[in-house]
Amino acid sequence: MDFALQAALDERALSHLYRKRLTHAGPQKPFLQVGGEPLLAFCSNDYLGLAADPQVVSALTKAAHEYGCGGGASHLVCGHSQAHHQLEEELAEFTGRERALLFSNGYMANMGVITALTHASDAIFQDKLNHASLIDGGLLSRAKFNRYPHLNYDLLEKRLMQSEANRKLVVSDGVFSMDGDTADINCLSHVCQSHNAWLMIDDAHGFGCLGENGGGVSELYGASQENVPILIGTLGKAFGTSGAFVVGSNALIETLIQFARTYIYTTSLSPAIAEATRVSLSLIQTEGWRRQQLRALIAYFKNGCQALNLPLMPSSTPIQPLHVGCSQQALKISDALRKKGMLVTAIRPPTVPDGQSRLRVTLTALHDFTHLDQLLDALSDLGSLFVEPMEREL
Ligand SMILES: *Cc1c(COP(=O)(O)O)cnc(C)c1O
Repeated sequence: MDFALQAALDERALSHLYRKRLTHAGPQKPFLQVGGEPLLAFCSNDYLGLAADPQVVSALTKAAHEYGCGGGASHLVCGHSQAHHQLEEELAEFTGRERALLFSNGYMANMGVITALTHASDAIFQDKLNHASLIDGGLLSRAKFNRYPHLNYDLLEKRLMQSEANRKLVVSDGVFSMDGDTADINCLSHVCQSHNAWLMIDDAHGFGCLGENGGGVSELYGASQENVPILIGTLGKAFGTSGAFVVGSNALIETLIQFARTYIYTTSLSPAIAEATRVSLSLIQTEGWRRQQLRALIAYFKNGCQALNLPLMPSSTPIQPLHVGCSQQALKISDALRKKGMLVTAIRPPTVPDGQSRLRVTLTALHDFTHLDQLLDALSDLGSLFVEPMEREL
């Protein structure tokens, strides 16, 4: 067995696609402790700096004393605590939806929702750049599976018109995780309503960051439950904890409780995490300075990159990728930044399409302008590495 496995591993290394884990000590903060060395990191999804916030941590420890550590059973057996229930009610209110349902994480929420709503006689339409968990849910459902080119809603509409499927489910990321751009919710909602299709938006990266109150793309576009009937959020990103939620109508939530296998056959989220999340939900709404800081940092970083003529991708979210192209080159830049004390991940295939490797810079409310100056200075020194190899030879 190992011989066969090693061959595939060697091949991955040869194509500069090998992945390694980085072990760090201490909390998720702009400076990560890696082997005793502090590295200025631009790669976490802790966009609002809540993962290690003292108020969130203290809610967690307090709740651990009250509820213990583990959920102890699945929600349908005896693992559904008051902490889970209150968080669900607060999430429904926050998003202006009838009801909310908690899942253990975003991957499971997406797999569970898609498979509970669609079957072999149905059709699913997904943006080509959707998150892996949405793609996997689509494949697992056995429904007819269509992937439309990124943000190409004209083609989506054509395919919806041609489809004779029983149910039609259109699925899109709200904010695309590797590109940082956003779906046009108005347009999607209009196309879906005109062709009798259900719209599901996974806003893992939008919640907390976008909209006046952190309500994500749905708030940004003023989309009601009618416009986006199936809305997913995750708790491991801007919320700074872990888990995920689905919000929508009472019928949707009851359907998921009855039929979503990744909801039914798994232990409930830790109730202490649910209590901690109630505090982060309240901080998302009351501490607007976090979003303001994030916005100021995004503008500063984009201006800085433009001044340096760096290949910034079109994004106004905390995900600010720099296009490189070649995987080897992306790794080289990431390694060079590391030598300068900074951590920026090189994102390579199969996470992104071939030839579209990139450096993915993510910003958080705990960064400050001096951190960005440090990154921009380093990028300025390395600027020549961003030029495609062919251009470099000319
Ligand atoms: C991170 C992410 C998920 C998975 O969420 P987890 O809670 O980390 O499992 C799902 N969808 C998108 C778009 C994501 O970025």
